[in-house]
Amino acid sequence: MPDTAAFKQKLLDQKAELEDRISRVKQNIRRAPSTTDWEDLATERENNEVVDALGNAAVEELEHVKTALTRIERGCYFICDRCRHEIEVARLEAMPYATVCRHCAENGD
Ligand SMILES: [Zn+2]
Repeated sequence: MPDTAAFKQKLLDQKAELEDRISRVKQNIRRAPSTTDWEDLATERENNEVVDALGNAAVEELEHVKTALTRIERGCYFICDRCRHEIEVARLEAMPYATVCRHCAENGD
């Protein structure tokens, strides 16, 4: 079994970065409207929606990262969730929070 230490570090870095991004997104959303002009307000609301979508993507990614860290703790990081075979190391290097092997990912459900 390959060593998980490098993957763990990578995931922890990613987790910190995502948490930072999410907290910045939240601060942006919470900011009170800076204008009373209706057109500007509409633009600002649109911006908030974009920021919201970015925040949601980050939250979703963070969940994947947390799952991967749990898998490392449990010692099943390299085990495919679907077929129980080993996940390719190259695949995990490209996508550290992959939970299924390349074969299962390509064959879908
Ligand atoms: Zn598999």
